[in-house]
Amino acid sequence: MSNQQPFPTLILHRQKTQAIKRFHPWVFSGAVKCKDGNPDQGDVVEIVSEDGEFLGIGHFGTGSVSARIFSFEKITSLEDIWKKRLQQAFAQRRNIGLTESKTTNAYRLVNAEGDGMPGLIIDWYNGTAVIQCHSKGMSAEKEKFVDILKTGYGERLTSVYDKSAATLNHKMAAPGSAEEGTPPPAITNHPTTDAYLYSKNASPESSRVVLENNNKFMVDWVLGQKTGFFIDQRDNRSLLSRYANGKSILNTFSYSGGFSVYAMQAGASLVHSVDSSAKAIDLTNQNVKLNNCAGKHESFGSDVFDFMKTSKEEYDIIVLDPPAFAKAQSARHHAIQAYTRLNQAAFKKIKKGGIVFTFSCSQVVDREMFTGAVTSAAIDSHRNIKVLHHLSQPADHPVSIFNPEGLYLKGLVLYVE
Ligand code: SAH
Repeated sequence: MSNQQPFPTLILHRQKTQAIKRFHPWVFSGAVKCKDGNPDQGDVVEIVSEDGEFLGIGHFGTGSVSARIFSFEKITSLEDIWKKRLQQAFAQRRNIGLTESKTTNAYRLVNAEGDGMPGLIIDWYNGTAVIQCHSKGMSAEKEKFVDILKTGYGERLTSVYDKSAATLNHKMAAPGSAEEGTPPPAITNHPTTDAYLYSKNASPESSRVVLENNNKFMVDWVLGQKTGFFIDQRDNRSLLSRYANGKSILNTFSYSGGFSVYAMQAGASLVHSVDSSAKAIDLTNQNVKLNNCAGKHESFGSDVFDFMKTSKEEYDIIVLDPPAFAKAQSARHHAIQAYTRLNQAAFKKIKKGGIVFTFSCSQVVDREMFTGAVTSAAIDSHRNIKVLHHLSQPADHPVSIFNPEGLYLKGLVLYVE
């Protein structure tokens, strides 16, 4: 480091350096032999081996993960590494045709570990960048991200909104680690309210219509869930379009109606959207209207399990996209049971020759466990069920090949006889 104080150092046990040398970005507390300096939650630390070999630079955490690495090479300044990372992330989105697309202008620019920036999400909504920090270390750098976004996007950038108040209350524990799910320790200096970090206009908009594969969606990053929209289902919604023409469709956990709008646009004869949140139902109705779809759409503000139990209707296609049933390993068993119950209900309501799109976004439930839960439901249904597609998250939610834990969205498309 040329112009900054040396960072505190984590010295790793000799036998614990292999994973880091293979570019796995998490330093578990058990790997740390000792510390040189007294880092606090979120501080930048250098990671070295017992022999003094440089291994990486990351943000310190007091939980089961002692550091999340953002560079496996020495850096000259934090500004430089953030600039490099954001440029790399932008180049990848440009190279897959997203940044200049005429039909899609909502995409994930930074996907945490997948883009070498653990603890940071940046979503782009047609001119507004929504930053969501999951670590104090990344939160401390947000003004730098704003400067880089301004330089990179130029006139295209209308505002930057920080949506980290809720996510910063969670501590930095590895998904599935023993400590996950225990109450987070207080993180001082975290924002207690979300706020605009930049705006070109005196009174920034809190929502905007974006395009996703030419479908229009009103995204409300201030009041909406997560950063405002579930961008991660883009490709899977497209797949639904292929099967939706002339079909009756039940879209459960509809949120802002992503799957519903695609189904209607593709010529579905009837779409029922179900969500327990009144705000979600409003957004779904608004988005269906925005797209001037023909066909019949109806929304139900209801618990999905109750709806499935009480409604008599059968459907050609059912979409099951629940929220993460398990956020911690301790909740995994119950989550798997909930996936089984949900899929059981769908197999009861799907017509002969119908199709079920079933998803799990729980990181602690891996693909094998999820498939197991769906298989249990399939056995229970006494119907013949074929797997048509294995689904995942789209290319703007990349996963580092060295950190497969970054793959969180799993889906199956099932043909039910
Ligand atoms: N499929 C959506 C994203 C789903 S997010 C999309 O493509 O955009 C999960 C949604 O499930 C949230 O809107 C939440 O309000 C809703 N939800 C959570 N638990 C529910 C329940 N038990 N019954 C109905 N809706 C529920």
